[in-house]
Amino acid sequence: MSRLLNKVAIITGAASNPGLGHATAMRFAQEGAKLVLTDIDMVGLAAAEKEMVALGAEVLTMEQNVVDEQRWQEVIDATVERFGGLDILVNNAGIAVMRPISEYSTADYDLQMDVNIRSVFLGCKKALPAMIASGGGSIVNMSSVAALRGIPGVSVYGIAKAGVQIFSKSIALEHAADGIRCNSLHPGLIDTNIQNDSRRDNPDEFEKLGDTVPFGRMGYPVEVANCVLFLASDESSYVTGAELVVDGGLISK
Ligand code: NAD
Repeated sequence: MSRLLNKVAIITGAASNPGLGHATAMRFAQEGAKLVLTDIDMVGLAAAEKEMVALGAEVLTMEQNVVDEQRWQEVIDATVERFGGLDILVNNAGIAVMRPISEYSTADYDLQMDVNIRSVFLGCKKALPAMIASGGGSIVNMSSVAALRGIPGVSVYGIAKAGVQIFSKSIALEHAADGIRCNSLHPGLIDTNIQNDSRRDNPDEFEKLGDTVPFGRMGYPVEVANCVLFLASDESSYVTGAELVVDGGLISK
């Protein structure tokens, strides 16, 4: 399979398994991409690297807190030095600080916004010059259905993800002439480690979550990864500034 043959891709938040970054890295590896995988979890990242190498991928792993501007520059520089350019950026790393506004502290707010949107701003800002030098590229920013609907307990996460959506459109316009596409992806309820808190805190409610989805189940990480692959590859060559919803029909209700 060669849908990303010789393309160089950075994926942030790639350590968590099951996770969307990890699943995306697997699909990219299967399709011939050269991978730069980053995360704050170096144990998970080492395990991911082994899996991708076993699939035949060339992999560079780097510890990266996506909030740190200097580290972003180091990741971009290392990518160009190792692989000669940059074609794809998947801004995937994120956290979900979910609680009612009455219980939400300003520290919670700053953390949620930093990890979920400052990161995307920094990633795009630092990656764009390298992508322009490579003659174009594709940026996929991980948003959420929470950008598209109000959801109780999800207010600040929703701000960040709505910001990712509209930010992606502006980047798409600013860099269309450079051959760079930028799209946002909006997963619904996907069964990854990000669900661990609600799985632990409300096991009975968690069991029933899938019933709220028209498809009658939560999504599998690979079902999101396949959509990231489409947006990253040349198959979506006329798609930019778009939002791709991957939610089993959840927000069409
Ligand atoms: P996950 O918790 O399984 O994985 C997130 C990864 O990001 C982890 O490896 C974690 O270590 C890493 N990370 C966290 N903070 C970081 C930081 N400061 N710097 C670098 N890495 C950091 O979550 P997931 O479900 O795979 O989520 C991936 C993305 O998809 C997130 O942006 C999330 O908001 C979004 N999303 C997920 C769902 C879902 O239902 N799973 C739905 C909509 C959107």
